[in-house]
Amino acid sequence: MTERVAIVGGGVIGCAVARELAPDYDVEVFEKGQLASEASALAAGEITMLSSYEDEPAIGWHAVDFFREYDGTGEFSYTELPSIGLVTPDREDEKRRYASRVAADDLPVRYLEREEASEAYPTFDLSDHAGVIEHGVSGFVDPYTFAITLHHDARDDRATFHTDTAVHDLLVEDGEVVGLETEDGRVEADHVVCAAGWRTREFLLEYTPIPVRPYRTQCIVLEPESPLPDGFPMGWYPGEHVYFRPEHNGDFLIGGWSFAEANPESASGQADAEFRTHVAELVPTFLEGFEEAGYVDGWAGVDGATPDTRPILDAPADAPDGLVVATGFNGRGVMTAPVAATAVRSLLTGEDAPFSLDTFAIDRFDTRSDDFEFISISAGD
Ligand SMILES: Cc1cc2nc3c(=O)[nH]c(=O)nc-3n(C[C@H](O)[C@H](O)[C@H](O)COP(=O)(O)OP(=O)(O)OC[C@H]3O[C@@H](n4cnc5c(N)ncnc54)[C@H](O)[C@@H]3O)c2cc1C
Repeated sequence: MTERVAIVGGGVIGCAVARELAPDYDVEVFEKGQLASEASALAAGEITMLSSYEDEPAIGWHAVDFFREYDGTGEFSYTELPSIGLVTPDREDEKRRYASRVAADDLPVRYLEREEASEAYPTFDLSDHAGVIEHGVSGFVDPYTFAITLHHDARDDRATFHTDTAVHDLLVEDGEVVGLETEDGRVEADHVVCAAGWRTREFLLEYTPIPVRPYRTQCIVLEPESPLPDGFPMGWYPGEHVYFRPEHNGDFLIGGWSFAEANPESASGQADAEFRTHVAELVPTFLEGFEEAGYVDGWAGVDGATPDTRPILDAPADAPDGLVVATGFNGRGVMTAPVAATAVRSLLTGEDAPFSLDTFAIDRFDTRSDDFEFISISAGD
């Protein structure tokens, strides 16, 4: 008999895992609302896996290869663009050394002097900067289309999706997972994958405490005085809590401003006034054509953070057998979805993954407390 896998959560991670497993397992996904209706629908869709996993290039390349290959599946598209980080004069030497070090590991990274960078990226006013770090391979996707395309693929392989169906509990017998208690009744399963986003900690607390806490992060879209030109890159401004990318219509999306969230259920879905002001003051200092930019949209959403900003993809030793956890994506869940799906397959089947899973193992943390300092990935380098 084909083994049954029940997945808790129909965000981008639940959908990616369902697609990966559906050819070989009887897969059922349980989502308390609609598919990809929480963090997954709100993401900026940036794919910056090589820079996020410089220490583990096999992980970054696994995701990049997936997005390149998946581009054009159904309605899904992946737009590949370079990404630049602005370098202030006081950090020039440090950043030059950094670029040579990572380039020596065959990563597509280089340091561009101000003149060279201004020529390559003429919309940027780099008068306050020494140059930029350019990551040659990054890109963006529409996160909702991505999740729904994964869902369609999984459904074509006979996975079933139950929306508006909350899962109340795991069913455990003799230390083994045997299914789920859902609002519609009991469901039997040989394996359970918990992909419930930031709610994973609360859901699994009595079985295996997961060091994940909610944080809130935001995006704003601006309409510049004229549409951004072709070749406008993605990028980030170290120390200013922001990253950015072009939209397909020439608008400008800027995201970041992330903070730990004590009340995730009632957190505002609007961008904060402080973030709007910060963006309005900051953007014209490094981009031409934004003095009179129009405000198009702004929003905020809640995701799960871990103490070291990397997700937990593991079958914890203290958890009931048959349970796999996929949570704590720290603002990178869309780009990490292909890696999460492959990791979960490896954890279920025992097949080797094409990268080490050590980075994602829960025992890398000394404690399972959620009382840790939140590190914002958009506030750093
Ligand atoms: C503003 C913003 C910008 C972002 N930008 C990017 C970006 O540029 N690139 C990137 O890669 N990532 C980005 N992210 C992060 C990314 O959106 C998340 O990491 C990713 O969506 C996490 O996916 P998930 O499936 O784990 O979580 P979710 O999308 O939160 O899905 C979890 C699902 O589980 C369901 N669920 C929970 N408990 C239960 C239960 N008991 N029963 C049934 N269902 C349950 C929830 O309803 C939810 O739909 C951003 C996030 C935000 C908010």
